[in-house]
Amino acid sequence: MIEIVSTEACIACDVCIKVCPTDVFERGDDGIPVIARQSDCQTCFMCEAYCPVDALYVSPISAPAGADSPHTDEDAVVRAGLFGGYRELVGWGRGRTSGALRDRNPLLKAVPPLSESRLPSPATVAGTPWNHPEQAVD
Ligand code: SF4
Ligand code: SF4
Repeated sequence: MIEIVSTEACIACDVCIKVCPTDVFERGDDGIPVIARQSDCQTCFMCEAYCPVDALYVSPISAPAGADSPHTDEDAVVRAGLFGGYRELVGWGRGRTSGALRDRNPLLKAVPPLSESRLPSPATVAGTPWNHPEQAVD
């Protein structure tokens, strides 16, 4: 759930306001978004992923974390390097490695591109463009 907008880092670009599917934010008088309807947050991480300056923190908890939680403590989140953490994880942002390149999900390497019923029998799943190729990670 969205927990923190860093007023220090935010550049008032409005992107998070526009991408939020449930209209959680309001634009403040100073241009900095305000979390106006936290209970409408779907924990989809889209605002954090799109924020160009990593000024947002969405906690992985799907309910308000509470005032005594580190998830609502801006200094703790900074110390843990978690502002924009989801954006970093998926590899969005200049100089980052795409999350698709880092994905090592073994299931995705084995899942055929078509449902079993549409595959010739026996199914051949190796070497198709739908499977993950072995790729070096930086
Ligand atoms: S996590 Fe998703 S629903 Fe929640 S504030 Fe961000 S964009 Fe909106
Ligand atoms: S996307 Fe980031 S920089 Fe832009 S208004 Fe939202 S918090 Fe501020």
